[in-house]
Amino acid sequence: MSELAYPYEAPASQALFDRAAAVTPGGVNSPVRAFRAVGGTPRFMVSGTGPYLTDADGREYVDLVCSWGPMILGHSHPEVIAAVQDAVSRGTSFGTPGEGEVALAEEMTARVAPLEQVRLVSSGTEATMSAIRLARGFTQRTKVIKFAGCYHGHVDSLLAAAGSGVATFALPDTPGVTGAQAGDTIVLPYNDLDAVREAFRAHPGEVACVITEASPGNMGVVPPAEGFNQGLKDICSENGALYVSDEVMTGFRTSRAGWFGVDGVVPDLMTFGKVMGGGFPAAAFGGRADVMAHLAPAGPVYQAGTLSGNPVATAAGLAQLRLLDDAAYAKVDAVSKEIQGLVTGALTKEGVAHRLQTASNMFSVFFTDRPVRNYEDAKKQESFRFTAFFHSLLGAGVYLPPSSFESWFVSTAHDERAVQRIADALPAAARAAAEATA
Ligand code: PLP
Repeated sequence: MSELAYPYEAPASQALFDRAAAVTPGGVNSPVRAFRAVGGTPRFMVSGTGPYLTDADGREYVDLVCSWGPMILGHSHPEVIAAVQDAVSRGTSFGTPGEGEVALAEEMTARVAPLEQVRLVSSGTEATMSAIRLARGFTQRTKVIKFAGCYHGHVDSLLAAAGSGVATFALPDTPGVTGAQAGDTIVLPYNDLDAVREAFRAHPGEVACVITEASPGNMGVVPPAEGFNQGLKDICSENGALYVSDEVMTGFRTSRAGWFGVDGVVPDLMTFGKVMGGGFPAAAFGGRADVMAHLAPAGPVYQAGTLSGNPVATAAGLAQLRLLDDAAYAKVDAVSKEIQGLVTGALTKEGVAHRLQTASNMFSVFFTDRPVRNYEDAKKQESFRFTAFFHSLLGAGVYLPPSSFESWFVSTAHDERAVQRIADALPAAARAAAEATA
């Protein structure tokens, strides 16, 4: 890697990373944080305010990751912090029902019409895992259809993304997931309704559910083609299967009702996380009341959690959701558009082939001149250009997701000064992308 690629050293982060590597595999608690895709030293952050993060070396960054989505009001929003402090002052976990979790569920169901009932959990992974179990319990069927490039957390059966042929039984994507766990998962190419129809034909009466990211952000931003989600819903309805829309990333971000608020397709079950937790571990699954009635203790499908509906997490989530009114979404959408324009303008000026793809205020850049409709397309991008682009921006105080297969996120706190920092950094980053070699 050339010097240009790592314009600044980060000695304090490096020292922490060395310490971390001694006690934690790879030095991180979630793999993508380790910068393996782009190289260099992951920045250890010590504080966040508004659109900025400050690292252990005292350097400030405009944050375009927003904790991978949750921080839609920016960091340390005073009203969210006040709600958290108030909740903490009354205790941190009771192991009993409490009003905060009822209020959060009411806020969520009021915003998202198909969400008749909701069960709170602590992570998006738990939400999708539980939704799949419920779909299987409700339909008394075993098979699950998912799409290559869609990530639904590290659920065993959903870590099967290999194999793209119609009705191909997936191979596990990772050691530790058995063939039996992955064998009931059918992995299909995204945005291909014919493949879905064919899979249902090949497995009559066997498919419990189709799970899809409402609008995928985990292979970069690849929105559903016109009619794709409705087609999934229709095929599921015709075949007695459930349509599960994973809104962990898009929920309460892409509109006040998430992606449902954008395309209006009515899922049988939905999953949530990120924004609804206000920066704390809170997530949820829910949907049709007749399906949710199968969940314990109302019904036979077991699901539980010691910290589910935690009073501090629900207070943070509720405070954040209550601040997310139409004006807040208008602000996030506007600043997202502004940054999108700056990015594509800078890359175009340097003659760098790229596709900027958007889903409401979520966006990402693919270094390719072709539209990206699925994971195979996404993998054809020139990721080495992203690496150069990323490090140039990092050196100039702009923090992007450290991988070209991720959505970028902005917040209501991204103001003129933050946007100007990005605008100032982009010309050199675009040049670095243009000059990069594989
Ligand atoms: N589903 C989607 C669409 C996600 O983007 C993620 C995480 O990024 C998950 C599920 C898993 O959520 P968590 O990381 O909270 O387990």
